[in-house]
Amino acid sequence: MVAKQAALKPQPNCTDLNESGLISVRNALQQILATVQCVSSYETIALDHARGRTLHQSITATFNVPAHTNSAVDGYAILSQNIPEAGQTSRLEINGLALAGRVNSIVAKSGQCLRIMTGAAVPESFDCVVMQEQVQRDGDFILIDHNHTAGQNIRQAGEDIQQGQTILAPGKYLTPADIGLIASLGIAEIQVKRKLRVAIASTGDEVYDLDAKLEPGGIYDSNRYTLMAALDRPDIEIINLGVIEDNPEALLACFNQTAQHCDVIISSGGVSVGAADHTRIALETTGQIDFWKVAIKPGRPLAFGKIGNTAFFGLPGNPVAVMVTFYQFVLPALEKILGITDQPIRPQFKAIATETIRKRPGRTEIQRGIISLDKDGQWRVKTSGKQGSGILRSMSLANAFIILDHDSVSIQPGDEVTVQAFASLM
Ligand code: AMP
Ligand code: MG
Repeated sequence: MVAKQAALKPQPNCTDLNESGLISVRNALQQILATVQCVSSYETIALDHARGRTLHQSITATFNVPAHTNSAVDGYAILSQNIPEAGQTSRLEINGLALAGRVNSIVAKSGQCLRIMTGAAVPESFDCVVMQEQVQRDGDFILIDHNHTAGQNIRQAGEDIQQGQTILAPGKYLTPADIGLIASLGIAEIQVKRKLRVAIASTGDEVYDLDAKLEPGGIYDSNRYTLMAALDRPDIEIINLGVIEDNPEALLACFNQTAQHCDVIISSGGVSVGAADHTRIALETTGQIDFWKVAIKPGRPLAFGKIGNTAFFGLPGNPVAVMVTFYQFVLPALEKILGITDQPIRPQFKAIATETIRKRPGRTEIQRGIISLDKDGQWRVKTSGKQGSGILRSMSLANAFIILDHDSVSIQPGDEVTVQAFASLM
């Protein structure tokens, strides 16, 4: 049927160049970070389980590390006054042996030295250690030349940590070095921020769990597994909500109930404007969740807000969009909720594009790339193939994000482009 009518007026959509109502990536992240709060409760745990947790207390040294001034090498402790003039040698008598772990109270006498091992306390009166390779041994004597200085090869008490010094502050995300440092103070238990309880749900009637037989039109759930893997870390307890059916009442009931005992809920799917976008339909009326159109590709539809005190992230359904929005928005928010004050550094750097990368201005595009280092020390990047937001293999084949910011246009071979290695994120 063909009838004469006024021209169609399409709604704003993701193919518009300057679509109204879009929120920038920066703005979205700012709003998210302004909304979420750091957890206040903590737990006391054994130091050997503390890697990847966040410190709640400060760590202050009650003694010096090392506790004793000690030798940095195997050799001979001497008096610096016995170092000869240039061109001469001194002959010193060996008067004892200092081993690590034993206290030695030998008093230095001019013309004498002490055989000493690495880590052994240097008796107070000695002020120089000569490496054993630099002496000539002659029975119970050594010969040394002039190439030595007072204080050499001696590690001062407290040169690593000084008594009274605060070495770690609350909010420190604990690395292996931090754990070792705390251990060097003899501290076996520490207070850390409690684990976050993060619930993960998939939505969609077409989405099947892995133990189900796939019916026509169905797909297996990949998003929940991606997210569970991304959240598999020592400071997070995952609550697996499974696949929730496309039904606003079921979704709302599940989210409300989960919010009673979880810090964060992450769902995927159903946040766009389609007739079957039930996550939006379920949560829109609560007034607690914003439904954004973020100027980002992939990942345009994004829901964020709070259900009670629980932060809610409604990620898009497409698997690549899930990963991109997780690393752009959810991970920084989790780090804030966890109370991490020293944000991990995730360097972005420039690489030379080896192919054309198509991009439209007016939105941030996070493409998936393969970076490699040339023999000449130059990073190069190409895309990991087709960039559709449903093509999860573009993530799996990639080793870096290609970050094309809001106003940038297509990249030509030879142009510089910003990349971020997955290794700093995943
Ligand atoms: P939606 O936003 O719910 O319309 O979903 C967008 C696309 O993502 C659809 O093609 C869905 O089938 C797909 N999708 C949604 N959830 C999942 C999931 N958990 N795993 C894999 N694909 C999904
Ligand atoms: Mg859906």
